[in-house]
Amino acid sequence: MTEGATETAVRGDSGVATAALVASRVVDVPDFPKPGVVFKDLSPVFADGAVFHRVIDAMVDHYGDGFDVVVGIEARGFVLAAAVAYATGAGVVPVRKAGKLPRAAYAASYELEYGTAELEVHRDAFGPGQRVLVVDDVLATGGTAEASLALVERAGGTVAGFTVVLELGFLGGRTRLAPRPVHALLSV
Ligand code: AMP
Repeated sequence: MTEGATETAVRGDSGVATAALVASRVVDVPDFPKPGVVFKDLSPVFADGAVFHRVIDAMVDHYGDGFDVVVGIEARGFVLAAAVAYATGAGVVPVRKAGKLPRAAYAASYELEYGTAELEVHRDAFGPGQRVLVVDDVLATGGTAEASLALVERAGGTVAGFTVVLELGFLGGRTRLAPRPVHALLSV
């Protein structure tokens, strides 16, 4: 396959070159964590300094100065959110799995394929009028992101947008988050 043919096969909101770079490092793990699921392992994206740098720069460039605080969704979202926050001088706030936060928190439940899960954010996480960029590694069905954005809004933040390294477009998560802005470096 020629280089051009490879590049037309990938797409993302920060251009074909960035999408292709991410795609070159994603490892598909069939039947993890259960049969029928293809887990998108982004560990090689995080582990390669040049690629990680490009990922963070693309997220920062896309949203510019349009946010004041960065939220990371437990656990892989923490890695990305901290880097975006550091690069821009913004603060970073965790959205955590239930029972981990030590002070008064808001909780939001969402559906998993089997059963439900719950995420929490501290009630005082955001100041008045703060614009919040929410970051995670993968957007699949959108349940995790939808719950996280609802938590941000309930805690008084204004959602500036949502960004991920990889979006499983065929699952329709982006539609679920509309009309909030969604940015994915690689859409498959
Ligand atoms: P969802 O709520 O369905 O959008 O799932 C998104 C969350 O689950 C993210 O925090 C991802 O880390 C994780 N996730 C879901 N599906 C996958 C997948 N196929 N590969 C890797 N991570 C996934």
